[in-house]
Amino acid sequence: MKDCLFCKIANKEIPSDAVFENEDVFAFNDINPEAPVHILVVPKIHITSLNDVSEENSKYISRIFEVIPEIARKTGIDKSGYRIVSNCGKDAMQTVNHIHFHILGKRSLQWPPG
Ligand code: AMP
Ligand code: ZN
Repeated sequence: MKDCLFCKIANKEIPSDAVFENEDVFAFNDINPEAPVHILVVPKIHITSLNDVSEENSKYISRIFEVIPEIARKTGIDKSGYRIVSNCGKDAMQTVNHIHFHILGKRSLQWPPG
């Protein structure tokens, strides 16, 4: 999608600190980390938010969840634990309108989130 930050990052039109890539998925370090490990995982096609997941595009969401264990092992958080977050819409403070899954780890995380 034109003018979408995470489409441009996934297409490498904009540089990022890449962590993992395959045909369907791109993962990179968050520019403003909230934890020692803070990675964003995005599909290589544009999906705006969780509200836009459908039978047609859910394969990309499956792909994301297939690679998360590998990223967790690679970054050393598989044993200690981690949290996956996808903010959807205004109340959740979604700021980039291309669906993304935050992987947060390597510190004790509070519950409930703010
Ligand atoms: P959200 O608030 O859930 O929409 O998350 C968007 C995330 O994208 C935030 O954690 C930002 O720090 C992160 N972010 C914004 N621009 C970039 C960028 N160019 N590279 C890496 N992460 C970014
Ligand atoms: Zn996009």
